[in-house]
Amino acid sequence: MRVLAFLDGTLADPDQAHLRVDDLSVLRGDGVFETILVTDGRPRELGPHLDRLARSAAMLDLPEPDRAAWERVVQLVIDNWSGGSEIALKLVYTRGVEGDPNATPTAFALGMEIDEKVKRARAEGIAAVTLERGIGTDLMERAPWLLLGAKSLSYAVNMAAVREAARRGASDVIFTATDGSVLEGPTSAVILVRGRTLYTPPPTIGILPGTTQGDVFRAAERAGWQTVVESFPASELTSADAVFLASSVRKVTRVHTLDGQPLADSTELHAELAKVYDSQYD
Ligand code: PLP
Repeated sequence: MRVLAFLDGTLADPDQAHLRVDDLSVLRGDGVFETILVTDGRPRELGPHLDRLARSAAMLDLPEPDRAAWERVVQLVIDNWSGGSEIALKLVYTRGVEGDPNATPTAFALGMEIDEKVKRARAEGIAAVTLERGIGTDLMERAPWLLLGAKSLSYAVNMAAVREAARRGASDVIFTATDGSVLEGPTSAVILVRGRTLYTPPPTIGILPGTTQGDVFRAAERAGWQTVVESFPASELTSADAVFLASSVRKVTRVHTLDGQPLADSTELHAELAKVYDSQYD
C-alpha cells in the first residue's frame, strides 16, 4: 500500500512515473526531505518535522515551504490510506527542474508501509559499527555550505556507510567525528543511557536535531529521567547501560552489539523507554 500526493493537493498513482529526468533532485540530490511516522491516523511530531523541513530548505536557499499546504497534503495522504496502522510518510521538496529560471520546487508526500526489517529491528535490536564521518565538531559553524544539520536528499554517503556496516556483519552505523566524538547514525540520532540519565550529542556539532530523540527526551523527563545534551566520546558507548538509535520510523531501537562486541543487555531499559515514548500516543 502506498499513497502519493503532490503539494497542490493532487493524488497520483505511485506506480507511475511523475518526476522529470532533469529534476535537480535526480541530477544532484538537490532538495530536502522529512520522514514522519503516522500511527492510527496521527502524525507524530508533525510540527517539529515541518520546522526542520523549513530549516533545511533555508540552509539550501530553497523557497520557504508553504506550511499550511504541507499540513493539508499530510492529511490527504492519511485520509486516503487503507493499509496498516502505521505509515512511513515521506515529504520531498526539491529545487525543481534544471536550467528553468522560473523553476518551482517539486514537492510531494508519499505514504508507505513500514519495512519488515525495521519492525524486526525495533523488536530485536541491531548490531552497529562505528565509522568515521571525517568532520570536526566545529565544522558546522565554520563551513555552512557543507549543509551539516540539513536533511538534504544527498544521502549517498549515509547509504554507503550502511553498506559498509553490512560488510562488517552489522546493520547500522554510529558516525564519529575526527576527535572521536559520537555524531549520529546515517538515519538516526544516538541516545546513550547511564543509570537514569539519557545523553545525546548536540546538533551544533554538525548533526540533525532528531525529532524522535527530542520527543523521547521530553517524555522521559516527564517520567522522571534526567536528560543531557552534550558531546561524548565513542569510548563511552561500550561502557554505557544502553545505546539506542532513534528515528521516526524505527522509533527507539536497541544496539545490542557494537563493532562486533556485545553491549550491556539493555532489553529492560529499552522496553521501559519504548513504553514511555509510545504511551504518549495511546
Ligand atoms: N540523523 C539523521 C542523519 C537522519 O537521517 C535521521 C532521520 O532520518 C535522524 C537523525 C533522526 O531524525 P528523526 O528522529 O527526526 O527521524
